[in-house]
Amino acid sequence: MTSTVTGVDARLAAVYRYEILDTPRDGTFEGFARIAARQFRVPISTVTIVDADRVWFAAAEGLPGVAQIGTEPGLCASAVLQSGPYVVNDALVDPRTMNHPLVRGALNLRFYAAAPITTRDGHRLGTVNVIDSAPRDVSTDETSLLTDLAALVAQHLELRLAALDAVRAEQALRRDADTRAAASMQLAARMRSAGAAQRTTEHPGHCQLGGPAGCTADAELKVADTWGDHAWGCPAHVEEILTHASSVFLATQELDGLAGYRSR
Ligand SMILES: [Zn+2]
Repeated sequence: MTSTVTGVDARLAAVYRYEILDTPRDGTFEGFARIAARQFRVPISTVTIVDADRVWFAAAEGLPGVAQIGTEPGLCASAVLQSGPYVVNDALVDPRTMNHPLVRGALNLRFYAAAPITTRDGHRLGTVNVIDSAPRDVSTDETSLLTDLAALVAQHLELRLAALDAVRAEQALRRDADTRAAASMQLAARMRSAGAAQRTTEHPGHCQLGGPAGCTADAELKVADTWGDHAWGCPAHVEEILTHASSVFLATQELDGLAGYRSR
């Protein structure tokens, strides 16, 4: 199965959506690589994510200190182009891999088997693979194990992404709450200074903003609206009306009428 240019872009978009590249080592991925290496009795197993120009290791059992390799065709970069398992029994004679640097180089790779890590929407992000320096065959059970491990890796990526989303949603809520708290502190400060300025002004004894039920609290602050109506209220009712009615502000002028408006 060959990917079109659009397919490659969509695959990379999926890779970036999971925000996994260059994250610190995750014990879950390392556990999957360890299981694969043990089951295949091979020295090396990696969990890879294939980026545009590199193969990044989410886990690298048996390859300590290796973080990424190039995207030369033949191994992981080719394995993500097909939907099923990808097996190279003897890399030295396989035309797909015989010139690959890991085959020709110090690693002396001879055997490679991989299953693609496939997202729910069908994008292949990378592989779970096993590597040996001797050629060998694989059984159907073994490729099934790789496929199962790759499905578990995909599942872990989904859970990880859901957790990231949840943390971000929580942070956004906290930011909203902080903004509201700051606005309410600002309002309280303005009400305090208005109350101090209006203390000596002649005003009714009780709050006029209690609506039909009335309010027996002391009137301390005067508010007015953009039509020029005004009323005196207790701090609680003044704060309520300032918060909910956009046309009402803390007033200083001697106007009347807002109490009537609130009592209707
Ligand atoms: Zn009141």
